[in-house]
Amino acid sequence: MKRLIIVPDGMADHPVAALSNKTPLAYARTPVMDRLAAEGSCGRFNTVPEGMEPGSEVANMAIMGYEPDLYFCNRGPLEAASMGVELKPGEIALRCNLIHTVNGRILSHSGGDLEPEEAEEVISALNSMTEKGDVQFYQGVSYRHILVLRHHNARIQCFPPHNHLGSLTGELKILPQGEDPEEKETADLLNRLVAKSAGVLQGIPWIREKARKGERFPGLIWPWAPGESPAFPTLVERTGLTGGVISAVDLIKGLGIYAGLEVIPVDGATGNSFTNYEGKAMAALDALRRLDFVYLHVEAPDEAGHDGDVELKIKTIEDIDRRLLKPLISEVEKTGMDIRIALLPDHPTPVEVRTHIREPVPVLIWGRGAGRDDVVEFSEEAVFSGRLGTFSPTSFFKDFFF
Ligand SMILES: [Zn+2]
Repeated sequence: MKRLIIVPDGMADHPVAALSNKTPLAYARTPVMDRLAAEGSCGRFNTVPEGMEPGSEVANMAIMGYEPDLYFCNRGPLEAASMGVELKPGEIALRCNLIHTVNGRILSHSGGDLEPEEAEEVISALNSMTEKGDVQFYQGVSYRHILVLRHHNARIQCFPPHNHLGSLTGELKILPQGEDPEEKETADLLNRLVAKSAGVLQGIPWIREKARKGERFPGLIWPWAPGESPAFPTLVERTGLTGGVISAVDLIKGLGIYAGLEVIPVDGATGNSFTNYEGKAMAALDALRRLDFVYLHVEAPDEAGHDGDVELKIKTIEDIDRRLLKPLISEVEKTGMDIRIALLPDHPTPVEVRTHIREPVPVLIWGRGAGRDDVVEFSEEAVFSGRLGTFSPTSFFKDFFF
């Protein structure tokens, strides 16, 4: 039997007054999701353990069966893995934003969308300021890059820039978490690099020009989400199954890499609402001919949630139904593929909250061994009466894979 998990990121939501108090998922036209719910079994899933931040890394770890309490890993090393940066023992990786600052305040977590050649110039300038070969910047996409430190300690407290808009950067110094001198050394090094980066960035003529014209510009580096390479048992080790991951997002691809999944590229997978839905469906079907399992992640509803754009959120959900699920299920049925499919968001990103929250998400399981219950619609409310009940962060994996 083949297995497929489809994760529309951040799709779950709250009732919205303008939608007659329906959620975007309940309001959207989703005939395929509703049919799968009617033919399969539904329930809810607590993807984020009590006391943990509802980040996509935590929630997707739980869906992949890595108990976040045991395996938690920051996004730095996960994104690094997705960019082909392997960490050796003792090395730590951090996400390194280029942020927009004016008069010492963070105005945006993004110093503007950089073209690849602009990013290359910035990263090369940053690498030329580094100390004793202990520091290496790696080029990512746009304002999102990676910083690797050799022989340093990841037990430091960093500040995600999107959570500190308007704050003075001088009040957000990276701190050691404990008394270990190595932690303090790492924090001091990072604070020095941040301070030095202002001058390095200002030395680049097109950055000065953007600043002069009042456009967004990279004013400072901002390292956060530090971590060492995580030690995950792979899917093959846990289940004997081979698998692949399809996502436009480095964080999810990195999780997949550490889970031993093959990264399956899809042309035009962008992470936003213009993503190639049909291409993702076809890539998943192709991969399932070779592999036992595919993890198919779609970022678009999360972006709409962060933008607080209810119309766009509904559109992304309808697109997933019509342009991804419909051709996928049709092909599964045409070819008689023996398969079990789970559909669930990783966490809610409600349009009125505009960020992730910790709340159970709706889940449906369809296909071989899924059983059937009385739920006939896929929505946050309809799944309450489903026969699957509420999965804990650890129980979904066992149910779905065994
Ligand atoms: Zn997410």
